Amino acid sequence: MSECVFCKIVAGEIPSKLVSESEHAIAFNDINPAQPIHVLIVPREHFTDVADLTARNEEVLLDVMRLGTKVASELSEGSFRFQFNTGAEAGQTVFHAHGHITSRTPKA
Ligand code: AMP
Ligand code: ZN
Repeated sequence: MSECVFCKIVAGEIPSKLVSESEHAIAFNDINPAQPIHVLIVPREHFTDVADLTARNEEVLLDVMRLGTKVASELSEGSFRFQFNTGAEAGQTVFHAHGHITSRTPKA
């Protein structure tokens, strides 16, 4: 997926502020944070959205969920959202599956 911005971040061709990583996914700060904590959880492999990811690779899906909840528990007081916008009408703008971890309550 040569024109995909998240494939380029995974490949290191576009810089990002890496927060954490796992076998199948990376976590980096959203460039335009909506809340004090706003981290994107992105599978290394290209999937169009979370529905495509769920249908095609449960191992990667589980890894994405584990990395997201780990980052959320490390950065927040335990109150957070883990959101997957799916489809343009739902606000998806990058068509490489990703979950948003957002929280208003950073760990002190
Ligand atoms: P969505 O609207 O669910 O597709 O989310 C895409 C998110 O990616 C938005 O919150 C953007 O701010 C974020 N984003 C786009 N380009 C970059 C980038 N180069 N680095 C970090 N975050 C990005
Ligand atoms: Zn991609």
